[in-house]
Amino acid sequence: MTDTIRSTCPYCGVGCGVLLTPQGNGALKVEGDPEHPANYGRLCSKGLALGDTVSLDGRLLAPKVDGKTAKWDDALQLVADKFKDTIAEHGPDSVAFYVSGQLLTEDYYVANKLMKGFIGSANIDTNSRLCMASTVAGHKRAFGTDTVPGTYEDLELADLVVLVGSNLAWCHPVLYQRLAAARAKRGTKVVVVDPRRTSTCDIADLHLKLAPGGDAALFNGLLAHLADQGEIDAEFVSQHVNGFDAALETARAEDLSLTGLTEADLATFYDMFTKTKKTVTVFSQGINQSSSGTEKVNSIINCHLATGRIGLPGSGPFSVTGQPNAMGGRETGGLANMLAAHLDLENAQHRDAVKSFWNAPEMPEAAGLKAVDMFDALAAGKIKALWVACTNPVISLPNANLVEEAIKNCPFTVVSDLSDQTDTARLADVVLPALGWGEKSGTVTNSDRTISRQRMALAHPGEARPDWEIFSEVGRRMGWEEAFDYRNEAQIFREHAALSKVAGDFGKDFDISALSDISDEDFDGFEPQKWPITAAREGGRFFADGKFFTPTGKANMLAVNARAPQAELDEEYPLRLNTGRQRDQWHTMTRTGRSSKLSKHLAEPFLQINPEDALACGLKDADLAVVKGRAGEAIFRVWITEDVAKGSPFVPIHWTCQTAAASTVSKIIPAIVDPFSGQPESKSAAVNITKF
Ligand code: SF4
Repeated sequence: MTDTIRSTCPYCGVGCGVLLTPQGNGALKVEGDPEHPANYGRLCSKGLALGDTVSLDGRLLAPKVDGKTAKWDDALQLVADKFKDTIAEHGPDSVAFYVSGQLLTEDYYVANKLMKGFIGSANIDTNSRLCMASTVAGHKRAFGTDTVPGTYEDLELADLVVLVGSNLAWCHPVLYQRLAAARAKRGTKVVVVDPRRTSTCDIADLHLKLAPGGDAALFNGLLAHLADQGEIDAEFVSQHVNGFDAALETARAEDLSLTGLTEADLATFYDMFTKTKKTVTVFSQGINQSSSGTEKVNSIINCHLATGRIGLPGSGPFSVTGQPNAMGGRETGGLANMLAAHLDLENAQHRDAVKSFWNAPEMPEAAGLKAVDMFDALAAGKIKALWVACTNPVISLPNANLVEEAIKNCPFTVVSDLSDQTDTARLADVVLPALGWGEKSGTVTNSDRTISRQRMALAHPGEARPDWEIFSEVGRRMGWEEAFDYRNEAQIFREHAALSKVAGDFGKDFDISALSDISDEDFDGFEPQKWPITAAREGGRFFADGKFFTPTGKANMLAVNARAPQAELDEEYPLRLNTGRQRDQWHTMTRTGRSSKLSKHLAEPFLQINPEDALACGLKDADLAVVKGRAGEAIFRVWITEDVAKGSPFVPIHWTCQTAAASTVSKIIPAIVDPFSGQPESKSAAVNITKF
């Protein structure tokens, strides 16, 4: 038995602190950290079962080249040579990295620096594109930068919490527990806006069973109502907001039938919002995973800006991220259309500043390929060398069949991951063993901008290495020894923090430069801290001072045109398929699937279908059903329930080629994306359903 180590849960964006006590023989005792500001000791079922998931079964312990065990030296040299040769022959945009919101910030930083600063392409994107890219785009349009205004405390201080496209009870369970506790204590009103009745509705005072895609219409209607009721904060708008008149004019013309709600339900919600100043609107994948996700985000922000409900305790729009380090990825610029430290790729001054900071030879001037476009380019033969780190795109990207074929046909694919048996790793030329949660060390940023440490509690298995070290090794072998001469995570974090000073100098929000000289020892003992760290902002909230990060210093309200989902229903595909998570599984189950406890909750892939649809499709409870879309099909166990509306069945995303090949949802999802964010419309496939 050794000492207890403080770390962070590797699953959702709540970012709960955990106490890890190694038990010997590789076992780990996991408890909630009572001092972590995200969870104060609470953990959900997934966090509590983390100890069940750390066995070394199936782990890759040494590099493999063409399926055969290889020396690190040979594998790394091969990767460096192949990337160099490809770039020399076809240019920097012929290579790409596809990374993950589960990388640590230091991993993200090095991967992004290698691609954008030294290879000279912006072709690095992340699975966070599937999660919250629409929020990033919406924030940037409204605030001038990707700033999450509020904090978790705001949910406890609000008098009304509106949850839109968020099954908080299952997807962010500890935040849900905090909200439920606040509600019990002080009578917080809760509105859930979701086409499905979910467990989150257990604490809802009002559940709006919105028509799929009706969110922007709902909030446009709210904006018009607020104006009609004289609830606009005219002083705040005149001093701090641009675009009010155009946004309101568009909102007034809205067709509220798109919401699918009754006039009575709309009136009840609008009245609650209008009368409650301290309102937080929480939104998540139900908003983001849409072909109009960015517009939906801006429709929500519009209502908060128009009423001055932003940056105040218990008031503001609040995006909760799906992944443990989606925010860290945004801070390091690990998206194809971002630079680093929330700077802008398209801004020549920002580019020059980062280039000079990195002493970089090359900087791309335009955005790279976003996730779906990246794999389309791969399929078209334009990408000739691909590196996938810590993610499994063969079964998580839309149109999974195309992605699989594209990777099979790619001339050179590298995967760095825990196992060589993921659906993607099986197709790779080179597989590099990376460290996993509990073994690696670094930082993550949760949904309310709190930076926490992940710490090593278990021995490094076999020859596995941290991702930052693997990217650095390849960078050095490509000829950039000095730029990638990193000895440890603390050194990378210091550089990341120092780069944020550049952002601060440009008036950007992300500034943690106070940490740029943190010692190795202080990094080891780093306590969770919310950024901004250099600015004195009450309670860690942004925008209380009414100052935004646009050139005018004012926030932008956008004229939002509500649009229905793009995947068209017709006679052949008459149903609109919704997708989402379930309580006890995570992503493609590569970790949670190891816990028998977690599998007891919902043990197999299911299809929730309304009784009327089930009757029309000739289905009974527990039948097997084939759900078929234009991109492909998958099989699920039938669960007939009134929780889903007629015409809008639901399936969970977790089962994959590894765990249940026939139930891979992403085979059904078409590659339709939001034009601003590039985020796929994962919640609105057109399908038909038949008995298997
Ligand atoms: Fe982990 Fe999220 Fe559960 Fe917290 S709420 S224990 S971060 S999965």
